[in-house]
Amino acid sequence: MSFKITILGCGGALPSRNKNPSSQYIECNNRHILIDCGEGTQMQIRKLGIHFQKITHILISHLHGDHWFGLPGLLSTMNLLGRNTGVTVYGPSNLLSLLNDILSFGGHQLNFPLNFVALDFKEERILFEDKLILIKSFPLKHRIPTCGFRIEEKKKEYTINTEETKKQAIQLKDYPKLKRGENVILENGEIIDFKSCVFDPKKPLAYAYCSDTYPSAKYINSIRNADLLYHEATFTEEHAGRAKSTLHSTAQQAAEIAQKANVKNLIIGHFSSRYENGEEHLREAKKIFDNTSVAEDGMVIDLTL
Ligand SMILES: [Zn+2]
Repeated sequence: MSFKITILGCGGALPSRNKNPSSQYIECNNRHILIDCGEGTQMQIRKLGIHFQKITHILISHLHGDHWFGLPGLLSTMNLLGRNTGVTVYGPSNLLSLLNDILSFGGHQLNFPLNFVALDFKEERILFEDKLILIKSFPLKHRIPTCGFRIEEKKKEYTINTEETKKQAIQLKDYPKLKRGENVILENGEIIDFKSCVFDPKKPLAYAYCSDTYPSAKYINSIRNADLLYHEATFTEEHAGRAKSTLHSTAQQAAEIAQKANVKNLIIGHFSSRYENGEEHLREAKKIFDNTSVAEDGMVIDLTL
């Protein structure tokens, strides 16, 4: 089981020498997801040795260019590399026609299925679900329709206490029942309580992504209790007025959201290019929420550790 977040880009709207526009690669239990795809994302994927063709879900939070201008290029590269398996893009409804126009005007036709799911900007939605993971979207508060995302593991199975199963002569064929939390009936009719021969499952992990947004109580429930929250913190308190007028957050506001949502850890990014580094952002956020760190391009966070 694995749950890793790779920050491909965590810059603000203007790229800088060491900060690319927004993009993250998430590997969760062998599902490969890209969140946002700013310009330069495919170069970051190359540099960091990520396998292009493994990505099957691409989540685009909103249509400001620093969150999706890398997508046509990435899809073209997947095509050039001979992809034949489908990709699902989740984004604002007009993204699909934008992509089709860009690709068709250049005379390109994708040789793999491009599935598209339009985001709902009114309420929380489940975007994808299988036996191991769940991806949800939820509305944020920005100048144009914007969603945040939550990726979480599904409830895990119990693990077998083999010492006990041997003692109680439980056969291998009954292990799946125990893992699901079902009692087992032995051949002699004896009922074995599953709790006597399993260990509790590990707590499912959750990651939440909020960019870009003005802080709002409306999305607190959607990010509640996440093991890690990435929250934009475009400004420091000095420019709180600018944050309000552009519907972005300050580092302090991001920390207040993290505290209210009871997340375990907070990582902040999307700093305006007017700041040389994130030192002041970190100082302001830590006053409210100590488990805060600053995102860096190329950073890998392993939630299972
Ligand atoms: Zn934006």
